[in-house]
Amino acid sequence: MNSDRFSQQTVEEGTKRIMDSAVSRILKAKQYAAERDHRVKVHSFEVELHGDNHNHLVRYDRGVWSCDCEEFQLRGVCAHVMAMEEILGEAVDPAMLTTPR
Ligand SMILES: [Zn+2]
Repeated sequence: MNSDRFSQQTVEEGTKRIMDSAVSRILKAKQYAAERDHRVKVHSFEVELHGDNHNHLVRYDRGVWSCDCEEFQLRGVCAHVMAMEEILGEAVDPAMLTTPR
């Protein structure tokens, strides 16, 4: 009986430890997400942006932006790239400074 109670207690302590570490992981993740501006640096991505008339493929690779739209081909920046800059904030380099056009 005593040993049963002991093992039950051990299980409860183990469960509590697992829950504590799950909670601390969740809190840490929330902190990293809240501090994204200095915690996160995006290296590369490819997204499909649904424009009013067409869908566009915006790509980013180590500071170099590209988009398949006509405006980007002409000016090196476009509303689609600017939208992604707005979304990603400090995690990416600005398009105007890094795109050689
Ligand atoms: Zn574009």
